[in-house]
Amino acid sequence: MRDNVHCSICNEPFAPEELTEFDGQMLCRDCLERETILCHRCGERFWEDDNAGTDTTPLCERCYENHYTNCSRCGRLLRESDAYFEDDTPYCDDCHAEYRNSKPIRDYYYKPAPIFYGEGNRFMGVELEIDGAGERDDYAAMITELANFNGLEHIYCKHDGSLDDGIEIVTHPMTLAYHQQEMPWGRVLEKARDLDYISHQAGTCGLHVHVNRTAFGQTVRE
Ligand SMILES: [Zn+2]
Ligand SMILES: [Zn+2]
Ligand SMILES: [Zn+2]
Repeated sequence: MRDNVHCSICNEPFAPEELTEFDGQMLCRDCLERETILCHRCGERFWEDDNAGTDTTPLCERCYENHYTNCSRCGRLLRESDAYFEDDTPYCDDCHAEYRNSKPIRDYYYKPAPIFYGEGNRFMGVELEIDGAGERDDYAAMITELANFNGLEHIYCKHDGSLDDGIEIVTHPMTLAYHQQEMPWGRVLEKARDLDYISHQAGTCGLHVHVNRTAFGQTVRE
């Protein structure tokens, strides 16, 4: 009778040719199937316990380290080339969009669809730069929250490269009456002062008022 060899894992006897050597152990087909897996990227076999990827995209540790990451928010496995990084933190497409939308200080390029407040045909959008107390998301959040009470989106804050250490407050277009009666400028400015922001004394700050073109009436060319 031929000598049987025992599987290193299940310890069942097998003819030698039925076993596969892996990682210094002799495995039967069932144990090989169950305990090891092939890397989705390099095709190499490794222990299932060491899977750095997912069930559908198994990855050896080396391939994961070199080419993959996980979304920091939802945990989804991502090819590094598909990930969005913010301060070295990886995000998937969806979570990145959500992150950008939830950040109190928007990019310089942020330009939402305008929301018009008040009745009439002359609307003014104000950009007020405040400086000296930091380009801080927590401060921007406080100011934004005050202005945007009751879920109204009156303002947003933006990064402004011309400031040393501040933020730009931008309003949606509003009528003068709305600015004066509904938009809580008093409380917003008081909060900014409380946080130690300055504006017209800063030397770096501007106040811009944008007015919609139609407010100037029709230009007739001869
Ligand atoms: Zn076995
Ligand atoms: Zn691999
Ligand atoms: Zn995600």
